Amino acid sequence: MASHRAKKRFGQNFLVDDSVIHSLVNAIGPQRDDRILEIGPGLGAMTLPLLARVNQLEVIEIDRDLIARWHARNLEQLTIHECDALRFDFRADVTVDTDARPRRLVGNLPYNISTPLIFHVLEQADAVQDMHFMLQKEVIDRLCASCGDRQYGRLAVMVQSRCQTQKLLEIPAESFSPAPKVTSAFVRLEPLSEPKVPDTIQDLFARLVQQAFAQPRKTIANNLREQLSANALTKLEIDPGSRPQSISIEQLIRITQQLSNTAPD
Ligand code: SAM
Repeated sequence: MASHRAKKRFGQNFLVDDSVIHSLVNAIGPQRDDRILEIGPGLGAMTLPLLARVNQLEVIEIDRDLIARWHARNLEQLTIHECDALRFDFRADVTVDTDARPRRLVGNLPYNISTPLIFHVLEQADAVQDMHFMLQKEVIDRLCASCGDRQYGRLAVMVQSRCQTQKLLEIPAESFSPAPKVTSAFVRLEPLSEPKVPDTIQDLFARLVQQAFAQPRKTIANNLREQLSANALTKLEIDPGSRPQSISIEQLIRITQQLSNTAPD
């Protein structure tokens, strides 16, 4: 098959280190009957070892040249979705089998869409069993940060209110071709059986979190001055003089519940 030139606009950095690929597939731990969906199979670095371990595999790919290569292989076990993963309906049941078990998502994600893609998936978290994603190490450190850490902020709060996060491995740039300018890492995200934020206040929570971290060096009272008074924060047992970095997810939920109780109907 003709060689493929990596396309920057699709964030193509192909994995080329077999021992890294082996560790990633082992960390995913595929079982024969799993409903695995890979985002961006590229030239197949993870796809082929996964295909060897499962009965069926779905992939989503945006690059028409790569899609043509997959069609040419004519692999019976493979379902190819030719589309943008940011628009994919993960709840849709479009596989050859009709069972509606949650999918396991995997992917060495194009870095330019990784954060919006995670938010897109989280909106459909009930349709997902778990996610194993390769991302920039810096993004994974922010996803997995605990309250009080330097990297703790909106991303950690929004993701951890819906998922358990676990950083699994760091991957050096030389494991890819072309090599990216940054270090990468592999993360496992598992949707919680009970999301921490009730559906009814999810939108309010998202807006509040954005506001709470808008100016990380200012106090929480200052960031939220248009939403509630310093006094109201104290009543919720939150120190109005704290920086947003030290406000836990539970405290942010408490503030949201208070706002929702006092909002005019
Ligand atoms: N999985 C391969 C590997 O590890 O070598 C390729 C990984 S490469 C970093 C990202 C892959 O995602 C490419 O195949 C790229 O064409 C595909 N891609 C980029 N943007 C996409 C999008 N919006 N939707 C679906 N696939 C996309």
